[in-house]
Amino acid sequence: MLIGICAGKHEIADYLIQHQGFQLLELTSHQSSQTVTNESNDHLGLQASKIGKNGTTPSEFVFSTPESLLDFVTKRWQERWVTTDISDGETLDRFILRPFFLLVSVDAPVSLRWKRFSGRCSRRQLDPPDLEKFVLWNDRNLYEKDIGRVYLTDRAQVRLFNSSSSLEELHQSLQTLDLADEQRLRPNWDQYFMQLASLAAQRSNCMKRRVGCVLVRERRVISTGYNGTPRHLKNCNEGGCPRCNRGDGGGVGLSTCLCLHAEENALLEAGRERIREGAILYCDTCPCLTCTVKIAQVGISEVVYSQGYNMDDASATILESAGVRLRQFNPPSNGLIYLQA
Ligand SMILES: [Zn+2]
Ligand SMILES: [Zn+2]
Ligand SMILES: [Zn+2]
Repeated sequence: MLIGICAGKHEIADYLIQHQGFQLLELTSHQSSQTVTNESNDHLGLQASKIGKNGTTPSEFVFSTPESLLDFVTKRWQERWVTTDISDGETLDRFILRPFFLLVSVDAPVSLRWKRFSGRCSRRQLDPPDLEKFVLWNDRNLYEKDIGRVYLTDRAQVRLFNSSSSLEELHQSLQTLDLADEQRLRPNWDQYFMQLASLAAQRSNCMKRRVGCVLVRERRVISTGYNGTPRHLKNCNEGGCPRCNRGDGGGVGLSTCLCLHAEENALLEAGRERIREGAILYCDTCPCLTCTVKIAQVGISEVVYSQGYNMDDASATILESAGVRLRQFNPPSNGLIYLQA
């Protein structure tokens, strides 16, 4: 009886069904194990596209195994389906392999969930649990090895934090969020290359700042780069660049820095021959002035960056005069999203 915590998962599934044309698919195979994790998995798998409108679950939408449910959706993946029945890691492993699947987790403050749960108990004329009991149950539910749902929520592409006080407010924020946006399933080219640039940045060894860059032509990667000291020199983070390791403010002693910038490394790696007309430079930080002039010289056609830097205007002016397009691209936010109207 203490099993069902109302963390809002059903409210979100209901919203998708009522307002966005999703249909509910049920998985009955794990019903018994759900006596422990029921309502606690707080996930909804959903796949994007269109049509479908129903509140109940007809028998053809009830499945006894994850495979049969996935087979069903494989043939109809462009319609909109939602399930709230993924309650163990093994099932999730199967779902997450599919390109039409998006895992969304929903969480809310424990005090709020206790209030909601108590409210539901009262409406059913049942005694609500006291807060302490509820918290202990919640901890077990979340963190207990093998049955805890933290393993599932940890893998969600979108993690919703539902602190909305009313259903109306929740619906409003869900409408703005547009969970059914297909770009959540599959990144577009800008997202893809910008993510590669961010990945390259993680290899940076420069003590000042991590920057990553990817050069692309005709949607193919020509080269990648990250910032750090040149080959055969000690890495910046091992003391290779005295200037970066001194920890003076940004911009101080720039001319004595031994670190190559991510853009420079990517340009050097590609070489002018391979860059040619139409090449796009993706960089997670807007290029500095010294990189900008090199970008102009090698014939890059477009620069796409995600975060600003302290000389964006100057870089923009130079690129403009050189006939290089410059635009900012911020990938759509994933991970933790606060649902607030
Ligand atoms: Zn450095
Ligand atoms: Zn340096
Ligand atoms: Zn630079």
